[in-house]
Amino acid sequence: MPTERDKTETTLQGIAASPGIAHGPVFLHLQSDVELPSYDIAPARRGEEVARLERALVVTRQQVQKIKAEVEKNLGSEEARIFDAHLLVLEDQALIGETLRELEASGRNIERCFQQVAQRYIQAFDNIDDEYLRERAGDIRDVAQRLLQNLLGQSAQSFSDLARGHVVVANDLSPSTVAGLDRSQALGLLTDAGSTTSHAAIVARSMRVPAVVGLRDLTTRAGNGDMILVDGYAGVVILHPTEQTLFRYGQIQLRKKGQEQRLLEASRRPAVTRDGVAVALRANIERAAEAAPARECGGEGVGLFRTEFLFLDSPHVPTEEEQYLAYQAAAEAIAPAPVVIRTLDLGGDKPMAGAAHLFPRENNPFLGYRAIRFCLDQVPIFKDQLRAILRASAHGNVRLMYPMISGREELARANAVLAECRAELKAKEVPFDPAMQVGTMIEIPSAAITADLLAQDCDFFSIGTNDLIQYLIAVDRVNDRVAHLYESTHPAVVRTLENIVKQAHRWKRKVSVCGEMAGNPVYAALLLGLGVDELSMAPPQLPAVKFAVRAMKLSDARKLAKEILEMSSAKAIHARCEAFYRERVQAE
Ligand code: PEP
Ligand code: MG
Repeated sequence: MPTERDKTETTLQGIAASPGIAHGPVFLHLQSDVELPSYDIAPARRGEEVARLERALVVTRQQVQKIKAEVEKNLGSEEARIFDAHLLVLEDQALIGETLRELEASGRNIERCFQQVAQRYIQAFDNIDDEYLRERAGDIRDVAQRLLQNLLGQSAQSFSDLARGHVVVANDLSPSTVAGLDRSQALGLLTDAGSTTSHAAIVARSMRVPAVVGLRDLTTRAGNGDMILVDGYAGVVILHPTEQTLFRYGQIQLRKKGQEQRLLEASRRPAVTRDGVAVALRANIERAAEAAPARECGGEGVGLFRTEFLFLDSPHVPTEEEQYLAYQAAAEAIAPAPVVIRTLDLGGDKPMAGAAHLFPRENNPFLGYRAIRFCLDQVPIFKDQLRAILRASAHGNVRLMYPMISGREELARANAVLAECRAELKAKEVPFDPAMQVGTMIEIPSAAITADLLAQDCDFFSIGTNDLIQYLIAVDRVNDRVAHLYESTHPAVVRTLENIVKQAHRWKRKVSVCGEMAGNPVYAALLLGLGVDELSMAPPQLPAVKFAVRAMKLSDARKLAKEILEMSSAKAIHARCEAFYRERVQAE
C-alpha cells in the first residue's frame, strides 16, 4: 500500500521531447523486456499454477477474438486474418504441454515456464529458412506477450483505450506505439529511456503530445492512477503535484499559449529575412494525411515524408498500389509545392513488427541492417516503393530521396534500381514525371566527406542531422545515458555542415536540413549563415522558426557562421547562437 510519504510532491528532471503542459493520472505501460518474476512453486501448489495458465489462455483467446472482430470491421478480413494465427498459438497443444512439463521439471512459477518455452519456439522459428514459418515467430512473440500480461494481471484492454485521459508512463515506447495513439487519447508521454532525436519523441512532437524522455526510473516511482504533471517545455515531471504547483503551471500554460498564438499569426507571413532573402521552410510528415495540415503551420511543401511509418502501421509489407495511393494523396494535397518522399528507413529504432522475420535481432541496430542497406538487399520491396513514388510523381511536384547513403557506389546502385523501375513503367506506358528530382540524405560521415562525389550523381542533398550527429560524435541518439554528449553545436558538426554545403554549391545542388536541428529556432541563423538553402521540420516547429527567419538579416547570419567556424566549444557555440536569436527575436 502506498504511504503518505509516497504522495509527497517529487520533481524529476528528464529530457524535453515534445513541448506542452499536461496533468492527469498515470497509466503505466510496461513493455516486454520488463523482468518477469521468478520464484519456486511447492509441488502441492502446482495445480494452482496450471489453473492460472488455463484462465489466462481463456482470457487471452477472448481478447484476441475481440481485436480480430474490430480489425475486421475497420480494416477488412484480410488484415484480420493474422489474428487467426494468434488464436492457433493459443491452441497449440505442443506449446502448452511443454510449458506444463517445464513446470514439473523446474518447479518455477508458470509465467517463467511459459516464457522459457515460448522463447525456445521463437528462436526455432526465427532460424528456419522459410518465410512463412519465420513469420510464426512474430505471432508467438505477440501472443506470448499478451498471455504474460494476463498472467501478471496487467491490462486486459487495449493500450489505446487505457491511455485515454491518462499520462502514459513507460520504460520505452516504440515509434509505432506512439504513432498508433489517437492524439486525443493520451494527455502526455513519459519514458525512462530515450532522447530528443529518438523516433518516438519525433512522433510525439508531430502529434503535439507533451512528452519528456530519459526519466531513468520513473516507472518504478509512479503507480497507476498517481497524479502527475508534465512540463514538456523544460523536460520536468512533477509526481503528486500540490495545488500551488498546479496553479503555477496553469499560469505558465496561459503565457505559453499566448506566445504560440503570436507565433502562429506571424507564420502566415512569408519566410523572408529582413534583408529580403526568401527561405524555403518545409514540413516533416509521417503520414500522407499530415500534408495538408502542415501548410496551415506555414510550411511550403513537405521536405521529408518518412514513408516507413506506412510500413510500421501495417501488419504486412504495403503493396505498390497501397503506397501509390498514399504518395499520390500527399502529392495532390501539397501541389504545386514539392513533397520530398524518402524511401524506406526501417531498422535502427524502427524495426517493422509486421515483418519481424526481415529484421533479425542485432547488437548495433543503428550500424546495421537499416534504410538503404535493407532496400538494396530486399530489392522487390524497394522496387515496389520506387514504382509507387514514380507513379505518384505524375500527380504533383514529387521528389525522391534515399536515406543513409554512405558513398557514391551505394548511390549508383540505388539509382540503377530506380532506372530499372523507370524502364518498366515506360514499357507499360504508365505515366510518371521523367524529370523527377532525386536527392540523397547526408547523414553518415563518409557521405559528408565525399559530398563532392555524391553531388555529381544526384539533384539535391538533405542533411539528416539526427543521424549525422550520432555517427560523428559516436553518441547513440536514443540512449539517455549519453544524451548530454549529443551536441548539435559540436565544432565537428559545424565544420561538417560547412563542407557539405560548399561541395553541394560547387555542383549547383541545393541543400536542405531535415533533422531536428532545423526545427530549433535558435540554430536557424547558423544553418542559413552556413549556406543551407532550405529547412524542414515537424509542423509545430514551423511558426517559431519562421519568426526567427523574419527577425534576422542573412548578412548577419553569414557573419555569425563565420565567427562560429573559428570557435572550439560546443557550449560556447550554442550560447552564441542563443544570444544572436534573443537579440533579434526580442527586438521584434
Ligand atoms: C535524420 O537523421 O536527421 C533524419 C531526418 O532522419 P530520421 O530522423 O528519420 O533518421
Ligand atoms: Mg536519419
